[in-house]
Amino acid sequence: MTIKRLSDTLVNQIAAGEVVERPSSVVKELVENSIDAGATRIEIATASGGKALLRVIDNGCGMSKDELRLAIERHCTSKIDDRLDDISSLGFRGEALPSIGSVSKLNIRSRLPDAEIGFEISVTGGSVSEVRPRATNPGTLIEVRDLFFATPARLKFMKSDRAENTAIADVIKRIAIAFPHIHFSLTGPDRSSLEFKSTGDDQLARISQVLGRDFADNTIEIDAVRETISLGGYIGVPTFNRGNSLHQFAYVNGRPIQDKMVLSALRAAYSDRLPKGRYPVAVLFISLDPALVDVNVHPAKADVRFRDPQMVRGLIIGAIRQSLGISGDRSSSTAASDMISAFRVEDPTPASANWQQRDFTSQQSGDWTADRSPSRPLNDGFGETPQSTFMSTEAPSARFETQEAQPDHVQKRLGAARAQIHENYILSQTENGMIIVDQHAAHERIVYERMKKSLFSNEVAAQALLIPEIIDFSEDECDRLMQFSEDFTKLGLTIERFGPGAIAVRETPAILGETDAAALLRQLSDEIAEWDDASGLAQKLEAVASTMACHGSVRSGRRMQADEMNALLRQMENTPGSGQCNHGRPTYIELGLEEIEKLFSRR
Ligand code: ADP
Ligand code: MG
Repeated sequence: MTIKRLSDTLVNQIAAGEVVERPSSVVKELVENSIDAGATRIEIATASGGKALLRVIDNGCGMSKDELRLAIERHCTSKIDDRLDDISSLGFRGEALPSIGSVSKLNIRSRLPDAEIGFEISVTGGSVSEVRPRATNPGTLIEVRDLFFATPARLKFMKSDRAENTAIADVIKRIAIAFPHIHFSLTGPDRSSLEFKSTGDDQLARISQVLGRDFADNTIEIDAVRETISLGGYIGVPTFNRGNSLHQFAYVNGRPIQDKMVLSALRAAYSDRLPKGRYPVAVLFISLDPALVDVNVHPAKADVRFRDPQMVRGLIIGAIRQSLGISGDRSSSTAASDMISAFRVEDPTPASANWQQRDFTSQQSGDWTADRSPSRPLNDGFGETPQSTFMSTEAPSARFETQEAQPDHVQKRLGAARAQIHENYILSQTENGMIIVDQHAAHERIVYERMKKSLFSNEVAAQALLIPEIIDFSEDECDRLMQFSEDFTKLGLTIERFGPGAIAVRETPAILGETDAAALLRQLSDEIAEWDDASGLAQKLEAVASTMACHGSVRSGRRMQADEMNALLRQMENTPGSGQCNHGRPTYIELGLEEIEKLFSRR
């Protein structure tokens, strides 16, 4: 066989196969270069999903004539000297520009800040032009036209303009989150524009720009350190979850990464707080000595290897769990605003609808007494004796407490219970609004947390059944359940073999009250069958506790007296994670007085 040396262009095209997969990867490389050049303003323009044109303009340090010539040569970089273990820039491989130039029509214009004039160089499908003087602004302008025209095989794999546009916007969002002081704009004839103005060092303000106000309103700040590794950022309250992982952002020393270990740690941290198929939202910034992480894993630089992955994993899980514990009784605010928009305002007297509407809005700033003036037909009689009007409502499953809200309860986070409706919802009055509690969900979380505690303290109370319950199972199922019988005992569930193909339940956890032992055991058996070997025993036992808690939530459909309701609210305040049941559903929603007033057009 004859072995020959490949041409530079071919070498670059081969590298391009990995570095520039699609237009958005070109954008990523160019924007990273602008950031490394110290730019504070980066403008990106695209046409036809970036396939026809990509342009990135920055106000960074620019390049001299000689630097321009070197920039498009393979393995030429200004970013590292002779070591790979001290990388603080986003780039370091010196291969993006030559790769891009080998598969497209690349034009670079650049001018040093204090230079009279700039210079220009072009690379078309690998062939390089002379460097020419060129009038241009300080900083760098890079244009990439007809991406992949020189590699038609790759061109075929491009997706629709729309899909490429979305991918480009995602790349910019991901980067923008980590650099709040930089102004980013993205424009193009075939796309909606994006603009992120600089927010200085206000990280949360930038995150809100990129991910929306909702995110900022529903997150908890995290800040933790383990040895020399620190973790900062924002994590969503569990009820503010998504159907996919697109709202999870992780960075190592400012570099956006897509790392399996980090994402799996995030998932594990929320494991008992989210329903199946739902994903937490989070922005995680990991900072550590560059020597403790290898970023040279893949040409796209999105994969990293930590020197001590277990420590990073522990840091992420520990910090998130702690924050969720601390702020865990917070429920998502979007649940309340969704509810507000679900309220339909229907006028009972259609003929006078316009008049009513005008009347409402004209009184926006009126105080409560003014609004109650008898000239308001809707309020007639209603405002005078609200309580008696409520009481005359004859809904069979609604029941109202009518006692005064006790002041010492009102001041508490979850307020004073005022009523129970449909035998499952507690209405409570807080200082600034009202709360509706799903008593079943709330109780489930409380029971679950108590059971988890008892796993470690062995203090769980069991309640003996007068007559043991005998439940039929296949031999396999019996074996499967008996394997965990000792652990079940720790949780207050005592089972024994009862001849072939049956199991006797002797005791159930007292905390569950009267429970359907057969249904509980069947569900446990099904779940155990699905466990994979990878999850640890602790995780498995938490799952068992969760299942038991769900079966034992006796309070659903139960009438409660005010004292009991208040006791439940107080327990919730003292229970970590009580903002969600253990399936991740919210246990309560909160409506501020302000929101209530908005509903009635008082604001
Ligand atoms: P790398 O970023 O890995 O060094 P690139 O091929 O992306 O490799 O860029 C090569 C070099 O060109 C960089 O090291 C940098 O010196 C210079 N360069 C690229 N883009 C810019 C820019 N926007 N402003 C200033 N210099 C740039
Ligand atoms: Mg680069």
